[in-house]
Amino acid sequence: MPTPHAPSAPAPTPPSPHSRPAGAVAADLGTDAPTGLSARSAADRLAADGPNELPSKPPVPAWKRFLGQFNDPLVYLLLAAIAISTAAWVLEGAEGAPVDSIVILAVVTLNAVLGFVQENKAADAVAALSAMTEATSTVLRDGSRLVIPSSELVVGDVLVLGEGDQVGADARLLSAAALRVVESSLTGEADAVVKTPEAVGADTDLADRTCMVYRGTSVAQGTGRAVVVATGADTEMGAIARMLDSVEEEDTPLQKEIHSISKMLGIVVVVIAVVVVGTLLLLATDRTPDTIVHSLLLGVSLAVAAVPEGLPAILSVVLALGVQRMAVHKAVVKKLTSVETLGSASVICSDKTGTLTRSEMTVQEVVTASGACVVTGIGYAPDGEVAPDADRDGRPDADPLEGSLRDEATVVLSGGALASDAELSADEDVWSVVGDPTEGAFLVAEKKLGTDGHREGRFERIGEVPFTSERKMMSVLLTDTAHGTVIMSKGAPDVLMERCSRVRVGDADTELTAQVRARFVEHIADMSGRALRTLGVAYRVLTDEEAARVRRAADSDGGADLSDLERDLVLAGVVGIIDPPRPEAAAAVAEAHRAGVRVLMITGDHPATAGRIAADLGIVERGAPVLTGRELEGMDDGALSRAVAATSVYARVAPEHKMRIVHALKSQGHTVSMTGDGVNDAPALRAADIGVAMGVTGTQVTKEAATMVLADDNFATIVDAVREGRRIFDNIKKFLRFLLSSNMGEVLTVFGGVVLSGAIGLSGHSESGVVLPLLATQILWINLVTDSGPALAMGVDPSVEDVMARPPRKPTDRVVDGAMWSGVMLVGAVMAASTLATLDIFLPGGLIETSLSTDGLDTARTAAFSTLVLAQLFNTLNSRSETVSAFSHVFVNKWLWGAIGLTLVLQVAVVEVPFLQAAFSTTSLDPVHWAVVIVMASLVLWVDELRKLVARARAH
Ligand code: ATP
Repeated sequence: MPTPHAPSAPAPTPPSPHSRPAGAVAADLGTDAPTGLSARSAADRLAADGPNELPSKPPVPAWKRFLGQFNDPLVYLLLAAIAISTAAWVLEGAEGAPVDSIVILAVVTLNAVLGFVQENKAADAVAALSAMTEATSTVLRDGSRLVIPSSELVVGDVLVLGEGDQVGADARLLSAAALRVVESSLTGEADAVVKTPEAVGADTDLADRTCMVYRGTSVAQGTGRAVVVATGADTEMGAIARMLDSVEEEDTPLQKEIHSISKMLGIVVVVIAVVVVGTLLLLATDRTPDTIVHSLLLGVSLAVAAVPEGLPAILSVVLALGVQRMAVHKAVVKKLTSVETLGSASVICSDKTGTLTRSEMTVQEVVTASGACVVTGIGYAPDGEVAPDADRDGRPDADPLEGSLRDEATVVLSGGALASDAELSADEDVWSVVGDPTEGAFLVAEKKLGTDGHREGRFERIGEVPFTSERKMMSVLLTDTAHGTVIMSKGAPDVLMERCSRVRVGDADTELTAQVRARFVEHIADMSGRALRTLGVAYRVLTDEEAARVRRAADSDGGADLSDLERDLVLAGVVGIIDPPRPEAAAAVAEAHRAGVRVLMITGDHPATAGRIAADLGIVERGAPVLTGRELEGMDDGALSRAVAATSVYARVAPEHKMRIVHALKSQGHTVSMTGDGVNDAPALRAADIGVAMGVTGTQVTKEAATMVLADDNFATIVDAVREGRRIFDNIKKFLRFLLSSNMGEVLTVFGGVVLSGAIGLSGHSESGVVLPLLATQILWINLVTDSGPALAMGVDPSVEDVMARPPRKPTDRVVDGAMWSGVMLVGAVMAASTLATLDIFLPGGLIETSLSTDGLDTARTAAFSTLVLAQLFNTLNSRSETVSAFSHVFVNKWLWGAIGLTLVLQVAVVEVPFLQAAFSTTSLDPVHWAVVIVMASLVLWVDELRKLVARARAH
């Protein structure tokens, strides 16, 4: 048991808060239960105790992370080769500077710096993301409710708990109403535990301390208040935090594939490097230490350059940048790697209310036993009036509302307003609803009727049976100065009417006959068919016995089940509420369809309302089948699997049905995205490939379970996120295509240069018989300039292709597929051929003889070196698409052109600036030489254009 403490609290802390009365615990902690701590005292306690955070591993210091960049066997080998080369230089009399060693060391260090910067950037992005999804708690401070980051909770704070909240610290309950808490993270018990404020014995086990709530658990139902007794490491969760720390996240398929590609290439490249060094030494007629050291350096440099050890880091940076961009566009992805799943989403299951619609509810119609009325005006401003429905009743429009119809409408609207927790507020004539918009709609309509003042001082709420998506109704228990104790219920009319036996007529009630019932059902179907959301209102005056039970329940701080009182109700009437679709929703649905992504609407609303809104949004055709929760319950898994293939609208659905829909879709090979907001949606969100939580209306538990949180609760944001996910995935393919083909070019150049040295005229230039096509320093340079800027620029490339014009990627598809490999091989081969041909052009002997062939080995090598660098730059343009021409949207990526420009300047500097010439064994080239270099380097562009042309023609 942790020892709760409160440094600035006046009295010593209680030893075991669960065994003492709540009031005493609060008093000991210096807390006034009704108002909470003062802001000042909270600040002092936070300063003294530190933030409410679990102990975590200390961060790895920057210098260690930097040194980690050298932690690669190939780099060790290179460092060893540098040491040998330096030793050889010393043995040979230490003339001049050991240029090679210095340059190679500098390049390796620079590479490490770039790797370090990339890793930091990725880590920063991850940290920024977790800050965005930081847990919050509602507390009382200075008598007001305040939402604060849970890390700022202090001992003595009064927590205000509601359904779906994550408990932020260990706390002693002060009060509870039907409070149930899921403690599985702490005790392993999956079922929610009933919590009440009554103290328990001092030696009660953790799992049975029903008057305590603990950090890391979540509220499944009900409400409560509790005073914080322990924070941070002192909490029960703090004690097991180390255990949680050791849970490692598994790699995603993309990461696994990238790792295996890196590994496979590593082996191939090392084998080739060994062959190169072996061949060089075999061909050498005179094996001096100098030839041996240079051959070794070349081999090891080739391995270091061509093994894509930086791939995972670049992957993280590209994902991080993409995820940051998505966050700006209101989609907060919690894990970098979920982006790849988003890109392959094939079904989006979406809630209706608030996600596809605006959730700005206005009551438009009221239907009662005596007729129907219309409510004019739209939005939350109470400007409008309630009048008899002329069309339906055949009365003239101007008739004021009077008689029985007025009486009944008053009960419907006032009853709905009474059974509600929402508040209406006006700020400079802008009206808004705090709380549930459906309930706000009743408040507004009641104001329009002008009867809102009549109930003042008459009713007092003494109990509640809460609304849940499963029950689809709620009730409040009121003492009414006129009638005693009353239950007032509102809910889905079909559900509510099952509990009604009478109906309100004028100021009395009569039996709800089958005929009247049928008339209501007809009205409800009619309103639903016009996309209105329907809600019924009903009531009953409780018997004395029932009233006494309600009072006892109220006195015992809740926990009692009052739902059996919701029977034999008197139906007051039904309202039709309009909830207009979001303006951007229809276009987003169309965009999803274009991208081969199915859209499913899953709602708790009436089937007819759901069907009509789905048709209006283009999700289905008018009259398409709607599956209800009840029908779904009657199906086995096989039947449901078949049904989900054909049905896109689901109505009167409860959260557990969502789970079955997810499983049915997944069994058909779909990658499923599922939205949710309530606490009971969490399992379905977890079961989906992409769980999407509502940022505004969602509970903390849902956000915790989700992989993506929508900051604006908007369906269109999901479609945007899918588009962005596809774009990021494309960009990953782009830099993979670029890096793999470039590395292939380097390897084939060195390999070909050594093996074909006789054919290209290279072998005649050394007495020892060993002539290197490129030098170790040059290879490392190529790697340095191309692996960083251009590869990263590729990762932020704007779409060249219309990513939403193709069907979703199958999760089983490889990132680097057969088509990409053949492209990579082709481009690598062309790069090597043009580089070696450049060598040949500038060397006497070999296959190509020109007037330039007498300019010497240094010029030939410098030209070949530059050709290879420039070929890589041309290849950046190739790599932006598998099939689309490099000349389409060629200037849209300013980063890419920046990287190309910078690399060009650096390359010219390496060739033309004297001290760099000494470092990289280059020599100045004249304009004709440069022209040859550019033409040879550009071959890779033309050949790949030709390949794309053929590929496009074939696709047609
Ligand atoms: P979605 O699942 O798309 O968000 P929804 O909001 O219609 O749709 P629920 O919240 O489960 O789904 O509501 C189901 C039904 O319960 C509604 O059609 C309505 O009749 C009724 N209802 C909704 N909110 C309330 C409420 N605050 N009080 C009483 N009944 C409600």
